[in-house]
Amino acid sequence: MKLILLGAPGAGKGTVAKLLTQMDGSVQISTGDILRGAVAAGTELGKKAEAAMKRGDLVSDDLIMGIMEKRLQEPDCAKGFLLDGFPRTIPQAEALKLLLAKLGIKLDMVVSIEVPRDVILDRLSTRRTCSNGTCQAIYNVKSNPPKKEGVCDKCGSPVVQREDETEAAISHRLETYNQKTAPLIGFYEKEGMFVRVNATSSDAVIAAIKAKLGK
Ligand code: AMP
Repeated sequence: MKLILLGAPGAGKGTVAKLLTQMDGSVQISTGDILRGAVAAGTELGKKAEAAMKRGDLVSDDLIMGIMEKRLQEPDCAKGFLLDGFPRTIPQAEALKLLLAKLGIKLDMVVSIEVPRDVILDRLSTRRTCSNGTCQAIYNVKSNPPKKEGVCDKCGSPVVQREDETEAAISHRLETYNQKTAPLIGFYEKEGMFVRVNATSSDAVIAAIKAKLGK
């Protein structure tokens, strides 16, 4: 399947994407994961993105489109992809439309996962992430802590609070979402491929997506 997952930070896009990959071999493409991996590895891309990410601002559309143009042409995308955290601005959505047309790829659906703000704030402030750039496993201090406190179950690296998940950065990211990303809903509604799912549990979101896709 070829989907775009929209939703505020903490809406559960990453969790839903991971579950969907198990259904049909589609790959999750998270621009946030790609950028954090680049920052951890100290690459040129990471250096360009780091300051904006720490503040909770978006990195430039050009940088993101450069990443996505290459990524969508990698062979593992042939079975399908779940775009998680991309596009995030109208210029990115417009550039993606041109890119997909150029590559002859047709999207199945754009899904917006809608979760109340208090749930999002609670989730983000209790979320912890593996600091290993190639692992980035997600934990939650309340609902899904690592077996050994502060240590990743999967790779043994330290599990930390992301620098953009302090209270100030979280509220800035939510504001950025409302200003820059929420307008994509209108964009995709006009394109006639938009579905809104109001659900806090990932299972309910998956069920709604499957029903819409007729799977
Ligand atoms: P995420 O893990 O999706 O919340 O992304 C973390 C951070 O990476 C964001 O706050 C932005 O700074 C940056 N980022 C991720 N995806 C994008 C995108 N599509 N456009 C611009 N910045 C992005």
